[in-house]
Amino acid sequence: MGGPAQHEPHTLNDTLGRPLRDLRISVTDRCNFRCVYCMPKEIFGRDFVFLPKDQLLSFEEIIRVARLAAIQGVEKIRLTGGEPLLRRGIENLVAGLAELRTPDGRPLDLAMTTNGSVLARKAAALKAAGLSRVTVSLDSVDDATFRRMNDVDYPVATVLEAIEAAAAAGLGPVKVNMVVKRGMNDGGVLAMARHFRNTGHIVRFIEYMDVGSTNGWNLEQVVPSAEVVRRIDAELPLEPLAPRYAGETAARFTYRDGGGEIGTISSVTQAFCHGCTRARLSTDGKLFTCLFGTGGTDLRALLRGGADDGELAGVLGGVWRRRTDRYSELRSAETAGVAAGPGGVPAQAGAPPAAGWPGRKVEMHYIGG
Ligand code: SAM
Ligand code: SF4
Ligand code: SF4
Repeated sequence: MGGPAQHEPHTLNDTLGRPLRDLRISVTDRCNFRCVYCMPKEIFGRDFVFLPKDQLLSFEEIIRVARLAAIQGVEKIRLTGGEPLLRRGIENLVAGLAELRTPDGRPLDLAMTTNGSVLARKAAALKAAGLSRVTVSLDSVDDATFRRMNDVDYPVATVLEAIEAAAAAGLGPVKVNMVVKRGMNDGGVLAMARHFRNTGHIVRFIEYMDVGSTNGWNLEQVVPSAEVVRRIDAELPLEPLAPRYAGETAARFTYRDGGGEIGTISSVTQAFCHGCTRARLSTDGKLFTCLFGTGGTDLRALLRGGADDGELAGVLGGVWRRRTDRYSELRSAETAGVAAGPGGVPAQAGAPPAAGWPGRKVEMHYIGG
């Protein structure tokens, strides 16, 4: 895919010319679901040890990092996890973040990704605190399939109600994220599209990614977005929409009859690293510059070690300036059978890239999806 996107010269750019624009913050590593592709029960069972409370960044610490990030160009913040709504008092964090401003005085765009399980009763408070939008993860509208995928027998009806409650509270347009895993829920793609047509909610079909080291990913389980679009288009004709800005992660389509919009996120078949402007703050305060990172920069040690704002901002800026990440693009090249990893060794088709990734990749629930 094309070279580095064109960006304003005065912004903080990484080695590939990408500015820092987004910060995803994982506010907890815990979750009440055990989605098979994210926190499989065999690994995240009763004995799994989550972070103790004193290792989590406090709301004050998160807000301080976010404030410095906003000074360096961050305009969008997404709260995620684990399940962000399990963090007690989360609306207080939202309220604190809502007070932050960009250097030219604009409020930040504040979003949250949630599994929707407790959203219905929190939506109004989140809106009042200043949350702009929510994305709700929903892998099937079929109750049995949904229960199988969340693996804690959680009913789909509760999440469907939460989506309506969020829209009613003014947190729309609600985006509904469906991770499509072959043989698991891909038979429900069309039902998902049908369910949310004409509702104002926007379904985004997401390619199953090789994040973390525990979900046993292989390429055969990925349903390419092109196939998803073909299947929907055959029944409900679609037409592509132009991207709204350079580096938009989702490709957008509209129903030809005016029934609304859908999106696809093709991190596997059409990597979008060239436009990736996202940094991530893990639950325990490590700064990652890629979802597929193996290690982050420990901001918590600085925050708790008495660093002043100048020092913290210097570390943040330095990390971004040195950033070289483009994992998905390298993986795409490898899985297509081309030697492209840093070691130049072709990986087996179907396997995640091995060359140049010696460490364990961090898990999604810890770094935030
Ligand atoms: N618990 C919240 C939720 O599920 O919305 C927020 C955290 S979750 C890690 C964020 C998003 O990552 C969810 O939409 C989830 O479906 C997605 N996700 C997790 N593992 C994934 C994978 N292997 N491939 C693609 N998306 C994944
Ligand atoms: Fe929990 Fe979200 Fe991961 Fe599912 S995708 S296990 S809801 S963190
Ligand atoms: Fe961004 Fe890393 Fe994903 Fe590429 S692989 S889009 S650099 S997070």
